[in-house]
Amino acid sequence: MNTEELLLKLTELNELSQQLITPEEERLEMLSTVTNYANQFIKELDTVKAYHQKEPHSLEITNQKKSLTELLDLYQKQVVETGINAASGKHMGYIPGGGVFTVALADFIAAITNPFASVHYASPGATTIENEVINWLKTTFLFPESSVGCLSSGGSISTLIAFTAARDHHKVKNEFIQKNVVYLSEQVHHSSQKALRIIGLEDIIIRYVSLDHNHKIKTKSLEDLIQKDIAAGLQPFMVVATAGTTDTGTIDPLDEIAKISRNYKMWFHVDAAYGGFFIMTSKKELFKGIEKADSLIIDPHKGLFIPYGVGAVLVKNSDAVLHSNYYTANYMQDGANEEMLKSPANISPELTKHFRGLRVWLPLQMHGIDPLIACLEEKLLLVHYFRNQLAELGFHLGPEPDLSISYFYYPFETDADQKNKKLMDEIHANGSVFLSSSIIDKRFVIRIAILAFRTKKETVDEAVEMIKKCLHKVK
Ligand SMILES: *Cc1c(COP(=O)(O)O)cnc(C)c1O
Repeated sequence: MNTEELLLKLTELNELSQQLITPEEERLEMLSTVTNYANQFIKELDTVKAYHQKEPHSLEITNQKKSLTELLDLYQKQVVETGINAASGKHMGYIPGGGVFTVALADFIAAITNPFASVHYASPGATTIENEVINWLKTTFLFPESSVGCLSSGGSISTLIAFTAARDHHKVKNEFIQKNVVYLSEQVHHSSQKALRIIGLEDIIIRYVSLDHNHKIKTKSLEDLIQKDIAAGLQPFMVVATAGTTDTGTIDPLDEIAKISRNYKMWFHVDAAYGGFFIMTSKKELFKGIEKADSLIIDPHKGLFIPYGVGAVLVKNSDAVLHSNYYTANYMQDGANEEMLKSPANISPELTKHFRGLRVWLPLQMHGIDPLIACLEEKLLLVHYFRNQLAELGFHLGPEPDLSISYFYYPFETDADQKNKKLMDEIHANGSVFLSSSIIDKRFVIRIAILAFRTKKETVDEAVEMIKKCLHKVK
């Protein structure tokens, strides 16, 4: 192609490709369309259902242009109005999410400016923001300055990073895998077992430690298991404690488990994905010992009320983390002299990634910490308020919760499991408030998990009213 032909072709291509560069007038119009949509969505949150038992359709990509208005309409019907409305305060199942408004602004700015938040040399500012969020987490969880950490997409990926560090520090590989033992609570989140499999430790020995009546790890049982394993020539490798289990919101006895881990030179991992941020509340005492963990995961997209897509991991031993994640290449040479710990890419499997730091940093700077703490305290009280009301209706309740999750069941005289399951189905079919179920101590139970920042006393009242109505149908 000569230059003339080339220029002609470029002009031709530009006609189409420049459609990706939205002019100012259209940008403003789109922004106003989206703002109106967002306003409408937020305004209706209190009155719409929390759950729609419906399957979506018409979402396939057809290469036929559609307008933003048309697409928002499609989004509303096929995404917002199917499944769980996770932005709603009436989402009280699983672990509720949330999504404070200011984070949407942070995500917008991050998308517009698109800094490379993985390598310090490429964006010293963005990586510093990521690292300042990590520093704040270190302070909050009393981790030493020398520890390292990064923001991940969520608790599951954080667990992968932590377990990989544990594996490499303890050199759990090859023929040793089958001789190493991991100690888990029966109430551990399934992301732990999943992470072990993904990082090549499928053949490791897993021991489930028995729990007391409050669903906490029995430290005596833990120690007995460890001693038995040692006597059998096995190697105790890691113990996973949870600070806020998914099913019951229970905090394991962290300080005692820390002592045992130290005595037997094991890696001590704490999963605080759901419960971690309650350390800032009146429940602080229950977290004693968390600072002794070798690794810790926390989910800002749970306890900081940030929309989905940001988890965090802290690890004390930086060498262990760098061992698996630090790698350089010729095309990275311009950044090679930078201090490695300033670049999130050296702490995480990710290189190019979303600038997550901004979506934590901006709301923390704009709101301050106090409203977050107040919101967490409020959730703790609301679960008690809920339990009081259900007790009055004749429900049996799980033990006094450490945090903001509890469970209940109706003591039907016959077929209790079946009837409680029917009650759950009625609650789902009603959908005004979303709750979820579980099996605890071999019994079918209904869980309430209060963590959404929009959940208020009125929301709990609505839940109680709905449960009352549904119970009536089953009875
Ligand atoms: C949510 C949760 C996880 C998993 O985190 P994701 O962010 O969903 O990947 C792990 N452990 C606990 C205790 C959790 O609540």
